Amino acid sequence: MPIFRRLAAAALIAAGLVCSLHAQSSDPAAERGFAALQRGDADAAAAVFQSALALRPRDAVLLYGAGLAANLQGRDDDAARLLKRAVEAEPRLTPAALALGEIAYRRGDLDLAVRTYEQVLAQAPSNLAVRARLDAWRAEADVEGRFEAFKDDRFTIMFSGPAQHQLAAHATKTMGAAFFKIAAALGSAPSAPIRVVLYTERQFQDITGAPEWAGGGFDGQIRMPLGGASQNLPEFDRVLTHELTHAMVHAVAPRNVPAWLHEGLAMRFEPHDAAAARRMLADAHVFVPLASLQEGFTRLNAVQAAVAYEESAFAASVLVDRIGSQGLAALLQDLSAGQTVEQAIERFGFTFAAFESDLSRRVGAQPLARRR
Ligand SMILES: [Zn+2]
Repeated sequence: MPIFRRLAAAALIAAGLVCSLHAQSSDPAAERGFAALQRGDADAAAAVFQSALALRPRDAVLLYGAGLAANLQGRDDDAARLLKRAVEAEPRLTPAALALGEIAYRRGDLDLAVRTYEQVLAQAPSNLAVRARLDAWRAEADVEGRFEAFKDDRFTIMFSGPAQHQLAAHATKTMGAAFFKIAAALGSAPSAPIRVVLYTERQFQDITGAPEWAGGGFDGQIRMPLGGASQNLPEFDRVLTHELTHAMVHAVAPRNVPAWLHEGLAMRFEPHDAAAARRMLADAHVFVPLASLQEGFTRLNAVQAAVAYEESAFAASVLVDRIGSQGLAALLQDLSAGQTVEQAIERFGFTFAAFESDLSRRVGAQPLARRR
């Protein structure tokens, strides 16, 4: 159910790798670009690196910076291409190789991810974090090496063995039907095939490290545990449709969509009853400020997660009913272009604060301002 947000660039920035590179660089353009990245201003960083690259197209540090900026902008194809060029130009540029490995992994290119991390480890054999990640990826590659693939224009479904063949065919049908409904609501559809991997319960836990309550996940590909799927197909379909929505929202708006909206939309297509969600919140007298539901829910315990999901379903449903499908498409575009949800919502003639206090009023909770 959750979106696993493994943002390579964000993680690297947090790890201080950008800072150290920043300090080493005596190039004023690169310095300006990395400073913008550290501020979180991906658009400014991308512009700086791009114009510097026009003069020095093979500069590894500039290629690395441009790759990070593209990653933060949600342009993973470009990010992978730029980082590959950075590593080719300077194989010892470890931060670039680390970012490339993470992005390759998220895009489902396990071979490239493993190869890249092997190169990093050859240069830094004592790096335990890299070794652990590489071990996990090799184990995953080993599992997937035994998988079969079911492919059409829209989906690639990976599964293990004839026992799962029927379920994989069923999954293709379920997603095919949901795809058009979701595409119509989002006003757009992904052009690249969506990759789905079907796991045993054990493989799913080992590979994703997802919380126990998770019935599936999306981290660039849809990952589904098959525990009990054949006994309960409607539940399997519900979770699969939920994850498919994440994949399609991600394709339309690869960055900046708040978790409550991502999850709420995913639940809308399951379909999840938004009126029941409102009643649940009203009965419990809870309304969590949406700002605290901005990031993913994987760190929440099961009870907190239940509230977070119900509120997301309720909030997204009220929002979509209010702004319509066309409005939703425009909102997602604005978010992905870098606007905050507070800014993006103003085009509809109301403020985010007003939207939020209307939600809290509808569940009978105290107005937000008075609870602070
Ligand atoms: Zn979800």
